Amino acid sequence: MTYQISIEGADVSFDCAPGQSILDAALHAGVELSYSCRKGSCGNCAGAVVKGEVAARPGAAASNETCLPGQVLYCVCVPKSDVTLAPTSWRKLDPAARKTFTAKVHSHDRVVPEVSVLRLRLPAGQRAKFQAGQYLQVFLEDGSTRCYSMANPPHESDGVTLHIQHVPGGQFTHTLLGLKQGDTLKIELPFGNVALAADDPRPLVCVAAGTGFAPVKSILDDMVKRRVQRKVTLIWGAREPSGLYLQAAVDKWKRQWPDFRFIPAISQARDALAPGVFQGRVDQALRAQCPDLAGHVLHCCGSPAMVAAVRQAAVEMGVLPQDFQADVFVPGPAAAPL
Ligand SMILES: Cc1cc2nc3c(=O)[nH]c(=O)nc-3n(C[C@H](O)[C@H](O)[C@H](O)COP(=O)(O)OP(=O)(O)OC[C@H]3O[C@@H](n4cnc5c(N)ncnc54)[C@H](O)[C@@H]3O)c2cc1C
Repeated sequence: MTYQISIEGADVSFDCAPGQSILDAALHAGVELSYSCRKGSCGNCAGAVVKGEVAARPGAAASNETCLPGQVLYCVCVPKSDVTLAPTSWRKLDPAARKTFTAKVHSHDRVVPEVSVLRLRLPAGQRAKFQAGQYLQVFLEDGSTRCYSMANPPHESDGVTLHIQHVPGGQFTHTLLGLKQGDTLKIELPFGNVALAADDPRPLVCVAAGTGFAPVKSILDDMVKRRVQRKVTLIWGAREPSGLYLQAAVDKWKRQWPDFRFIPAISQARDALAPGVFQGRVDQALRAQCPDLAGHVLHCCGSPAMVAAVRQAAVEMGVLPQDFQADVFVPGPAAAPL
């Protein structure tokens, strides 16, 4: 049965088809609620249901530790009646904003043995329109898709740059390893709602693990381009020093930004670490190096376990739950197409 969904205090309502999640119905209707993974993990879509009844899809939980009391995860909940939502944020989507391209491999660099930097060019005259921190979907031959965050800032719009961690046995990893200049890939973008406000003056802490650095690079390069003056701390972690695969980008921010602080964190070092490198995981680095996070905004990118650990540390150290934003690299095929 189709139910109607409304947004409290707004003249907005849309239909939700049987079995469709509240988030998918909203996106389908051109209403963008805050979201990222669409798999019930990151918590970005947590919001309240002020009227009506909802239930989690089979196998999913309606809420998780990221939800405040009374909130559910819109990406996994389906309505059981007409409902009224009170989302943390929403906006009307431009229906023409998302596009599919056949992109050409411009370069493929294995910057370290386990990470590729892949630069894709769009067909002549076409532009990629996205916000810093958003991601795209790559179509695989079997029709499934994988998500990758844009690492380039939005003003570099004639193509996209991806930082891809090799996953042994992974389907796209296998394709990726054979990609060379001139090969083509079908991609669709943009996806993901980035809640970071460009004009927010509060200090920002970015915490990334491995290729979670990709969306952070896009966000920070974009802030440099916009000449944002804001205190920024970057904690970037990896198991071994080689996992911090793009030191040049960090060095550039250090030169460009007087208020930029970088904390590298290495969790499984085999040799002695260079001075200034934190020995341990990124959540441990956050606790040790940023003891008072009241009034800060925190943006975190990496695996579900890493994001959960950083979220716990951040909230314990004073970050308000609504000021913690996550980009969770949930493994496996992307959620079903909208
Ligand atoms: C919103 C979003 C943005 C993302 N952005 C990026 C990005 O910028 N860079 C990036 O490298 N990845 C990113 N990912 C992860 C990416 O989409 C793929 O999941 C990943 O590249 C593996 O794809 P694959 O086809 O090679 O492996 P698959 O064929 O999907 O997986 C093979 C097996 O490995 C497991 N697996 C998958 N990934 C991992 C892992 N990291 N560690 C351990 N086991 C794993 C799977 O569960 C499966 O059992 C993102 C994911 C999401 C949801």
